[in-house]
Amino acid sequence: MTDYPRLLEPLDLGFTTLRNRVLMGSMHTGLEETKDWNRVATFYAERAEGGVGLMVTGGMSPNREGGVFPGAAGLFSDADIANHRTVTDRVHDAGGKIAMQILHAGRYAYSPECVAPSPIKSPISPFPPKELDEDGIEKQIADIATAAARAREAGYDGVEVMGSEGYFLNQFLVEHTNKRTDRWGDSLENRQRLPVEVVRRVREAVGDDFILIYRLSMIDLIPKGQTWDEVVALAGKIEAAGATILNTGIGWHEARIPTIATSVPRRAFTWVTKKLMGEVSIPVITSNRINTPEVAEAVLADGCADMISMARPFLADSHFVAKAAAGRAAEIAPCIACNQACLDHTFGGKISSCLVNPRACHETELRYDPAETPRHVAVVGAGAAGVTVAMVAAERGHRVTLWDKAEQIGGQLNMAKVIPGKEEFVGLVDWMARMVEHPSIDVRLGTAPGVDDLRAADEVVIATGVSPRDPGIEGQDGPNVLSYIDVLRGGAEVGARVAVIGAGGIGFDTADFLTHDGGESTTEDLDAWLREWGVADPEDHRGGLEPEGPRPEPSARHITLLQRKSEKLGKRLGKTTGWIHRASLAMKDVQMVGGVNYERIVPEGLEISFGEARERPTLIEADTIVLCAGQVPERGLADALEAEGIACHVIGGADVAAELDAKRAIDQGARLAATF
Ligand code: NAP
Ligand code: SF4
Repeated sequence: MTDYPRLLEPLDLGFTTLRNRVLMGSMHTGLEETKDWNRVATFYAERAEGGVGLMVTGGMSPNREGGVFPGAAGLFSDADIANHRTVTDRVHDAGGKIAMQILHAGRYAYSPECVAPSPIKSPISPFPPKELDEDGIEKQIADIATAAARAREAGYDGVEVMGSEGYFLNQFLVEHTNKRTDRWGDSLENRQRLPVEVVRRVREAVGDDFILIYRLSMIDLIPKGQTWDEVVALAGKIEAAGATILNTGIGWHEARIPTIATSVPRRAFTWVTKKLMGEVSIPVITSNRINTPEVAEAVLADGCADMISMARPFLADSHFVAKAAAGRAAEIAPCIACNQACLDHTFGGKISSCLVNPRACHETELRYDPAETPRHVAVVGAGAAGVTVAMVAAERGHRVTLWDKAEQIGGQLNMAKVIPGKEEFVGLVDWMARMVEHPSIDVRLGTAPGVDDLRAADEVVIATGVSPRDPGIEGQDGPNVLSYIDVLRGGAEVGARVAVIGAGGIGFDTADFLTHDGGESTTEDLDAWLREWGVADPEDHRGGLEPEGPRPEPSARHITLLQRKSEKLGKRLGKTTGWIHRASLAMKDVQMVGGVNYERIVPEGLEISFGEARERPTLIEADTIVLCAGQVPERGLADALEAEGIACHVIGGADVAAELDAKRAIDQGARLAATF
């Protein structure tokens, strides 16, 4: 008997059957653009082996003008078809099924060749699109249908037509982007004509026995977005035109509402998909912030969908489904929805990976093969870096001793997990704790080893982390000054007016923590979160936007966040999530001040000045000053070992504290342990 009977139930599509209700949603990983087809195939084959019911590839452009960027992958030639066949063959050999997503970016294409229903530039691309004429529209339809036929030839089990997230087909649906007055615009029927025609022509091109998923924007989250009646009408027409399955799209990329970040509540939008259940007779998939089998099962049990799409969770763990089915759900590496190694990489022009699983998209090069000679690995520090070394070394057959002077594992992650909106870190630390309960790992918490304890080990790894930097500000020893550690560990009394010194990731997190007056977090309260960001039922308000806009709870404190650099505060936070942190603090009226000199801390607050000439002396009135001035490596033990001539590997924050983050620490730990 399984805990996930609905999730693991096959789905009969008539001409074919999916082995369970789990879809690996489309992700642009950048793998296809490497043209290393063995690498692409290995990525998908591992996930097929891991039990997922159906996978969707990253978006493939149907033609040059529709590519997300110049050179974006597609299926343009016979050679492309042969390359893609490498992938589909490996997936089928592993018992899986795979559909190719056809993505026409329209005005979102990062290219001067981009096309759209109307020549209106998008706020997220510098290129104004060219308005398509009648022939141009026909060419786009024909190219999409041809791409689908080629996908079939390449051995795919189906295609997904991308109709949401503000891409090309979505752009025809609303007046926000479609100002046409011909048969492709103006009336609702005309605006809906293109997606329906595309589905009809794709079905015609691929035949009846081929999966055709249509990704439908169910809540646009933009001004002048679709009404719910329009969404339902379109869903019916898409079904009639030949779609096999409807998938859920949430929000356009230009929406100013987070839809997949870690601070978005789990399953935050399944209520939207549920509204469509019963309106169509084909299966409906739901999506966004579903990252555990428990949540997925509950979504199905609540009647919100017939199938669950998860994407990033399959970067974190390729064997998500197999582990769930085998009663080993606690071993599933959790996707914490941080975007740090996946979407942030994509937007930075790098190949995706995963903070939690550095093997993601690097399967052919980073391998955890059984060790030729089992050895004793001593690891000091059970934060992200040290735990990763221990897990990978043990998996490879080594014997590990893992020390930490703290009574719990997780290191700095334990501070992240108390920040409102970062609750997923709790699951990450719990997973790490579970994974080091391994017969080959001897965990010694509350113990700091000395040099003599480490002499006999074959490999010594120092992952002792960081300590806060001393900013050397006059008055910092006063009773009104705290470090972020005092604040985040709890217990310290913080006044009503606070100045936060340092606006890196921890300064932002600490400010966010202090805007809340206790443990309450809207991430744990869906209604409060929807209110906070101004999300409405699309049945009540067009596009699902609350006319009054966001309605956040007021901050518990008056907070000023400061940095010495004169650049915009938060500029170096995550590419795809930094704006959310800035918007969250702005909604709480946190004052952000850059370009300052810290003159001194006095009982009344913090004295600052501006610029090299130390002009405009100003007192920031504050009851409490919190120091978040970065960190320095904790290298005492590494230095002591070196003095005794004992070789050791220094990783994580103990190696480089600047720009320290869990992504680098875990990657460094995994790559080191793969070499033992
Ligand atoms: P950080 O990102 O290096 O930021 C340190 C801050 O302190 C900067 O604002 C810096 O700005 C200031 N500072 C540096 N030296 C100073 C000095 N001597 N006196 C006064 N101010 C000084 O370090 P962090 O905030 O401690 O975060 C550590 C790492 O944890 C981050 O790099 C990040 O990777 C990770 N993290 C990320 C997030 C996130 O992205 N949300 C959250 C938490 C942690 P000025 O030099 O301009 O004053
Ligand atoms: Fe999930 Fe973060 Fe990994 Fe992306 S990098 S898959 S968001 S855990």
